[in-house]
Amino acid sequence: MSSQESSRVRSGMLRFWGVRGSVPTPGPSTIRYGGNTSCVEVRLGDEVIILDAGTGIRLLGDALVRESAGTNLEVSLLISHSHWDHIQGLPFFAPAYQVGNGVRIYGCEGARQGLHWILSRQMEQPHFPIPMREMVSEITITELKEAEFSLGQIHVASLALNHPGGSTGYRLSYDGQSVVYLPDNEPASYGLLGSPDAPAATESGDLNREIIEFIRGADVAVMDAQYDALEYRDHVGWGHGCVDDVVRIAVAGKVQRLFLFHHDPDHDDDRVDQMVLRARELVQALGSDLVVDAAKEGLTVPVALRLAEC
Ligand SMILES: [Zn+2]
Ligand SMILES: [Zn+2]
Repeated sequence: MSSQESSRVRSGMLRFWGVRGSVPTPGPSTIRYGGNTSCVEVRLGDEVIILDAGTGIRLLGDALVRESAGTNLEVSLLISHSHWDHIQGLPFFAPAYQVGNGVRIYGCEGARQGLHWILSRQMEQPHFPIPMREMVSEITITELKEAEFSLGQIHVASLALNHPGGSTGYRLSYDGQSVVYLPDNEPASYGLLGSPDAPAATESGDLNREIIEFIRGADVAVMDAQYDALEYRDHVGWGHGCVDDVVRIAVAGKVQRLFLFHHDPDHDDDRVDQMVLRARELVQALGSDLVVDAAKEGLTVPVALRLAEC
């Protein structure tokens, strides 16, 4: 792409506000990657899209309030599923308490009672002193019935993931740029299958094939890679990914850039560094040019590396 063409296309932006899985992990050993649970901000076109409402959403909300400087905010929040680490920050999301703001929440039901019930219930006594009705912004909660839909200018595709109680992955696309977000997912393990190069040969490889198609060619993929290969053997069926499998899937899907996400609460910063090194070794062994990093709280990246480099 010429620099003239690239100047007409504005690259989107992605920022990590919470990257930890399961439970917040504040403390000196997690200070580099961060201890807040799942929350990712994506800016594409004019849309502000928030992926999950873990504890990281509190600081995002404060930043949005500062940025808006008194003008009305419109944000969309996509919930992957209703486990604590993906919804627990919502009661602390400041924009929801300001008249005139619009907060559109989307997610699959994920439980029998419905998404509205799940989100409002965590704000009732004895869990929390302020009920959801005191969030005086215009809040809409929509249970997704379609696999694909639009958020303003953004095309959104969703995919059911393999996680206890269910989880939903999202692909956001706009103007030739795309971000995929696959938290809380356990792919079929190539390592355990003993067929690293032939996942399609087994029935349990079906989910992997679906994921590979879902992420194909994405600029950025944010994927649950909670365990290394050794740990994974003791956590089969827990609903989280093994870094080796996630890298193989990202390479097969030819994504540009992979962020390891949903870091295990028992992994300190050095351990996350080791996961990244292992991932990069595997990328090299597979002869791929996939760029791999670990998601890090506060890190901002352009969605389209190719545009950013023009
Ligand atoms: Zn989680
Ligand atoms: Zn979960």
